[in-house]
Amino acid sequence: MRKVILIKYGELTTKKDNRNFFIKTLKKNIFDKLSSFSFEIKDDYYRMFIYPNEEDIDSIIGVLKNIFGIHEINVCLMSDDLSVNNIKNLSLGLMKDKEGTFKVETNRSDKSYPIKSMDMSRDVGAHILKNTNLKVDVHNPLTKLNIEIRHEAVYIYENSIKGLGGYPVSTLGRALLMLSGGIDSPVAGYLTIKRGVELYYLYFESRPHTSIEARNKVINLAKKLEKYNSNGKLLVVNFTKIQETIYKNLDTDYLITIMRRMMYRIAEKLARKNKCLAIVNGESVGQVASQTLSSILAVNNVTNYPILRPLCSFDKLDIIEISKKIDTYDISILPYEDCCTIFVPRHPVINPNLKHILEEESKINFEPLLEEAINNVEIVNLNEKEKYTDLL
Ligand code: ATP
Ligand code: MG
Repeated sequence: MRKVILIKYGELTTKKDNRNFFIKTLKKNIFDKLSSFSFEIKDDYYRMFIYPNEEDIDSIIGVLKNIFGIHEINVCLMSDDLSVNNIKNLSLGLMKDKEGTFKVETNRSDKSYPIKSMDMSRDVGAHILKNTNLKVDVHNPLTKLNIEIRHEAVYIYENSIKGLGGYPVSTLGRALLMLSGGIDSPVAGYLTIKRGVELYYLYFESRPHTSIEARNKVINLAKKLEKYNSNGKLLVVNFTKIQETIYKNLDTDYLITIMRRMMYRIAEKLARKNKCLAIVNGESVGQVASQTLSSILAVNNVTNYPILRPLCSFDKLDIIEISKKIDTYDISILPYEDCCTIFVPRHPVINPNLKHILEEESKINFEPLLEEAINNVEIVNLNEKEKYTDLL
């Protein structure tokens, strides 16, 4: 008898044609995230078994809880002794300290096994009833004992641990997340990864107006997201010249609108270059002046690349709740200035006029500045932990 981990896939079951690809990717992601442990995996169309060293089980479960595409995690007792007596004894061992009500459910994937599922459930149930104070409740039991009889072994387990759900990362391609140091964009990133999309990160900085601490904040946020993502890269764009040029020469009420149009232009070019199929940001309708529908319309007008806004209908409090859950909140609230906050106009325009924007933008030839920013992108390696973490 040994302990093994049984994983159920959840939403993948709706993806009939792609199912094998999804399972293969999930397996690869699990191997990646658990690379410091030794274990084996066996999978089939419906579930995956992980055979770890017993002392690693708790740590491994801690990692599995953060892997998208996993619906349910169960620690099972596995035994190759398929005799009824052994199954009864193992089941009683699991249930003897429980209280309240229970139900036994048996599943035979090995149909040649001589005892029918219903009979096995009844026999094991009777054995538990006789030897404990538990009561049976077939409709709403406090504990459900599962017995899975397979050709090679029997697997017995009770209450399961909920997984994150979603799709395995990278099954839906890659997107570029506009990652600022705020609360919203990391949450937008997390929700996108959940849908199986792998992320690269894009940060616009305006040194010396923004500080190294602001950059480190973004690096640390990206690292938090890397717990769910796989092999992300952070692209840092030097935005200083573009921002100063807008600030010095154009209508300051339109500063944010025009600045965001420049960001989108750069984001699209970098997304194409890095094989990202969409751009993601943390915009939420109505949250600030740059996020009214007419602002979004005016900004979005520079691109027809897909822009995903997973938070568009979220309330701030709900966003904060997720940011706490994914442990980005405490980093996000550190007080370093972002490039959007340093040049904030006194009266940011809420309903920008596209004709006026185009007139303003035509006063300057932005193309060379955009080219320069794109050509000088800096790529930050998110795995160099020692180099940055001590700065926060
Ligand atoms: P956040 O909390 O994510 O900073 P916000 O409420 O401050 O968002 P804005 O400053 O209007 O809102 O930015 C909207 C979105 O634009 C952000 O969620 C982010 O995706 C992107 N963004 C803003 N500033 C930057 C930046 N310096 N680098 C990269 N992306 C940015
Ligand atoms: Mg911000």
